[in-house]
Amino acid sequence: MATSFNIIVGSQVWVENNEVAWIDGDVLEINDKQIKVACSSGKEVVTNLSCVYPKDPEFPECGVDDMTKLAYLHEPGVLQNLKSRFDMDEIYTYTGNILIAVNPFKRIPNIYDKTVMEKYKGVALGELNPHPYAIADMAYRQMVNEGISQSILVSGESGAGKTESTKNLMQYLAHMGGRSRADERSVEQQVLESNPVLEAFGNAKTLRNNNSSRFGKFVELQFNEKGRISGAAIRTYLLERSRVCQVSDPERSYHCFYMLCAAPPEVSEKYKLGDPRTFRYLNQSNCYQLTGVDESKEYLATKQAMGVVGISSDEQEAIFRVVAAVLHLGNIEFNRGSEPDSSQPKDDKSRFHLKTAAELFMCDETALQESFCQRVMVTRGESIKKSLDPNSAAITRDALAKIVYTRLFDWIVTKINNSIGQDAKSKFLIGVLDIYGFESFKTNSFEQFCINLTNEKLQQHFNQHVFKMEQEEYSKEEINWSYIEFVDNQDILDLIEKKPGGVLALLDEACMFPRSTHATFAEKLYQTFKDHKRFSKPKLSNTDFTICHYAGDVTYQSDFFLDKNKDYVVAEHQVLMNASKCSFVSSLFPPSSQDSSKASKFISIGSQFKQQLQALLETLSHTEPHYVRCVKPNNLLKPAIFDNLNILQQLRCGGVMEAIRISCAGFPTRKPFHEFIDRFKILSPNVVNISDEVEGSKILLEKANLEGYQIGKTKVFLRAGQMAEIDARRSEVL
Ligand code: ADP
Ligand code: MG
Repeated sequence: MATSFNIIVGSQVWVENNEVAWIDGDVLEINDKQIKVACSSGKEVVTNLSCVYPKDPEFPECGVDDMTKLAYLHEPGVLQNLKSRFDMDEIYTYTGNILIAVNPFKRIPNIYDKTVMEKYKGVALGELNPHPYAIADMAYRQMVNEGISQSILVSGESGAGKTESTKNLMQYLAHMGGRSRADERSVEQQVLESNPVLEAFGNAKTLRNNNSSRFGKFVELQFNEKGRISGAAIRTYLLERSRVCQVSDPERSYHCFYMLCAAPPEVSEKYKLGDPRTFRYLNQSNCYQLTGVDESKEYLATKQAMGVVGISSDEQEAIFRVVAAVLHLGNIEFNRGSEPDSSQPKDDKSRFHLKTAAELFMCDETALQESFCQRVMVTRGESIKKSLDPNSAAITRDALAKIVYTRLFDWIVTKINNSIGQDAKSKFLIGVLDIYGFESFKTNSFEQFCINLTNEKLQQHFNQHVFKMEQEEYSKEEINWSYIEFVDNQDILDLIEKKPGGVLALLDEACMFPRSTHATFAEKLYQTFKDHKRFSKPKLSNTDFTICHYAGDVTYQSDFFLDKNKDYVVAEHQVLMNASKCSFVSSLFPPSSQDSSKASKFISIGSQFKQQLQALLETLSHTEPHYVRCVKPNNLLKPAIFDNLNILQQLRCGGVMEAIRISCAGFPTRKPFHEFIDRFKILSPNVVNISDEVEGSKILLEKANLEGYQIGKTKVFLRAGQMAEIDARRSEVL
């Protein structure tokens, strides 16, 4: 990083500013460690010399396409560069091999299509404008040429553009690895068409993104030895299930509900649907429409895509019937029954929706009602029916809606996977990960906790890759390199994941003790981690807890942790749904292998999720990773607004600043001696006769007038940008 030693009176500097992060100005005075600056805002500020950075007087107007090419590399320089490019609709910028993508919130013409793809084919990274196609091409070439599986990890906060970037990456890979004349049911076409299907059932409008994916996704493309796509698998993570029954203004529930309400009359009449405003699960929020979206067209488009991914029309009918049934469930209200603490459907309207839900599920209406209003308790071999009060009945109703919807979503994912088909003989794969970024809101619950755990794990993977690998390589090659420190987050992972004794393990324990509450759980956490430096108890609460994540502190409200961690199916629901006359509905609730006399089966969501993550990281560990870091330029979701502070925060959280530091400080380009000689022998043809490769390489490096490079044990290490220089020499000669 540039230091302030070369700052003098009259020079241009960047000064820290709490509104725009960094503001530029001219130095007026320097007294010892104090500096006075006339800022471009018109204000004069006096600050510490160590808080200012020199500004590049020759900063290129259009910025640079790779941060490592910045002459003055520091936070304000990085921001200035991103902003200059953003203003010219250049939304992509490299940091070495990492692609930074700033969401333009508008269509940028002519940068995503087959002609552009063809341009990127086989071209080395950095030769063309930064682009997701270039990253995908690099991954594809490395896989084909070196036979190593690859992964592309796309990250960023909600609305930053992860899903859009992922689609671009997949489109490129499908283009490269697909057959020349792709028919509609080809593997690559099915993979692409799985997007609209998954989005219909797993995306929703939120405050942060009008089309927010409420699940994580890892798509694994399998390739044969010819580099052709031969199979694919889609894995999804933790669909947000609470959204099915609960939406807050101005958000929406999953898109499919609104589409179905807008379906052609013969469909909506069959399912007894109509205005979404009449359904409790949708009308808790006042938002029903999305600007520019015609739900009735979306309905048809979704069905079309479902067809492509192999979901038959009978299956489509059953899926939408279940979606409709969920809406009707939400409209069943309960009031007190004739006996104390009992409940019954409130009125004719509730009875109508109960009847309709039962018809659509093709299950017994009385049994459906009883499954809400009564619970069978088994004590000492005797079963007793216990009535539930209206409140408990409503909770049970919501539990059914959520489990049905979650299983429906999982069914769709499994179906898509089966229909695309796996290639068991596949030699290598390219995985693309599109998963929720770090979240810190006013209130943070179990979902944020799991999401942030994911990000801790991915951050560790990123750290290990970018930092450790880099350093290990330098040590292995015995080249001179002053080690850059990075923050290791293993201690946070231990705090959360350790078994026994981590937060997740304590949560599972709490869920298994009938008398635990969120308060006793929180108390247990306070006792266990009172001396942990990553954990603290907020002063003003006895149930919240704070975890000091790599990206900042997050305070979690423990209130619903226990409930949300329990993944149980009420035994009555299991029996009822399994007995459905509709084989589709019945298949969503296969008989469980475990002892079914137990009232409910407990599986912890936290532990399942932890296992899923472990499997994901295991897969990733066998691949060569590539990173796309998405950045959201403003919270208004509008074009042309570049909110410095907000962006800086994202760059810091994503490790982008650290990565920039390391790739510039180090030697980002490296080539084994023989490859190096082979590539540049034209500069001095005699080198091929020299038996010592090191000598040969040195001759070529001198010929190219390079300085500051390093010679390792097996490779030449070049500084950022030097490869381009020597390549230029080579083409002069050619
Ligand atoms: P995330 O998956 O990170 O939550 P999305 O990929 O869904 O975010 O992007 C949110 C919205 O931003 C998209 O619906 C789209 O309107 C816009 N957007 C994202 N990336 C681009 C892009 N490259 N070009 C144009 N608009 C984009
Ligand atoms: Mg998304």
